[in-house]
Amino acid sequence: MQVEIIRGEGLNSNIFILSSENEEKILVIDLGLDGLQTNFALKKVLGKMTEKMTDFQIEVFLTHCHIDHVLGSDNLAEFTNVQYSASSQTAKHINEKDTVTLLSMYGSGEINYTVEKVYKDNEKITFKGADLEVIHSPGHTDGCAVVYDKKSKSLFAGDVVFAGAGCGRVDLPTGNRTTLIASLNKLAELELEHLYSGHGPDLHTNVKENILAAKKMLEW
Ligand SMILES: [Zn+2]
Repeated sequence: MQVEIIRGEGLNSNIFILSSENEEKILVIDLGLDGLQTNFALKKVLGKMTEKMTDFQIEVFLTHCHIDHVLGSDNLAEFTNVQYSASSQTAKHINEKDTVTLLSMYGSGEINYTVEKVYKDNEKITFKGADLEVIHSPGHTDGCAVVYDKKSKSLFAGDVVFAGAGCGRVDLPTGNRTTLIASLNKLAELELEHLYSGHGPDLHTNVKENILAAKKMLEW
């Protein structure tokens, strides 16, 4: 499995683009905001990845419904075979464009797609060359979910936990400190070597310690 990263600037979330040899599917984790810079970067990466593919599909998995992770669908406008996926709660927030998305706070941009594929807790994402599983990890929002690759021991964590022992805010709609602590406990039990979070840098050492330290900060 190959991981390409478009690093989010400012409020923008990181975007992770996963590809694998012999897999006619690209998995994009989170979309960032719309905007020229993201647009250019994403097109470039996808163009290169799909160069030798004839019949490919793009799946966009959204870790949660916040605008800084879900607004960039225009960047994929030239692709016809795009499917959006998420946990059921996140799908509900996005499809209903409700207050949990924070859309009303942002003031520009709109969600112009529907999340059709819903993943249950511990459900696998079909993807050759990896062993991907969706793990529901509520607390930052009630619909937060991470993608875990058992094969490479990688965690795509959205805003659940960040490198530097930080975690997502719990004071936004449906945020809950106790729930987030429970989610961090669950994630700390995984075998982990790589942490790819929704904002900031990645982490390739002491990932479990980082999660436990984030939990401690939250319990304080
Ligand atoms: Zn968020």
